[in-house]
Amino acid sequence: MSSCKLCQSSDISILKAKDSFTYKGQEIEFEVEYSVCNSCQREFIESQQIQKNDATILSAKKCADGLLSSEEIQAIRKNLGITQEIASKVFGGGENAFSKYESGKVAQSAAMDRLLRLAKEFPSVFHWLMAFSGCTVKLKDSSAVYDDCRSIAANQEHYKIS
Ligand SMILES: [Zn+2]
Repeated sequence: MSSCKLCQSSDISILKAKDSFTYKGQEIEFEVEYSVCNSCQREFIESQQIQKNDATILSAKKCADGLLSSEEIQAIRKNLGITQEIASKVFGGGENAFSKYESGKVAQSAAMDRLLRLAKEFPSVFHWLMAFSGCTVKLKDSSAVYDDCRSIAANQEHYKIS
């Protein structure tokens, strides 16, 4: 639990206020989180609130740019059945790319965004990327045609990624 740096009280309330900024000529509203000391009425923003507010702003910008949200990226990755480390290896973007994307610290590029959408839509694209980056894809159903997108999509539950 945090305490007030001015009066040392630990009677702190966490509040939210509406704020807005202009991004690419568009007015974007977002909620900013801050703390208020109930003893001396001092308002302050803690470092974790700064991070949270930064993530909220980044998320609003990504939304305005039509990019996948952090949650959507995480859902795609989990659906593909890979860890953040493997995702960074397969899709590129640097060693910790996916932990940054998913925590909202960094926005993915438009190119990364499209690559993720492609991999989500077409399992064969994902399998190609896996193979290209040296990750192995084991097919449980050996009769499946590897380079046919539709048959791979239809047989998705038969694939096991290791
Ligand atoms: Zn205080």
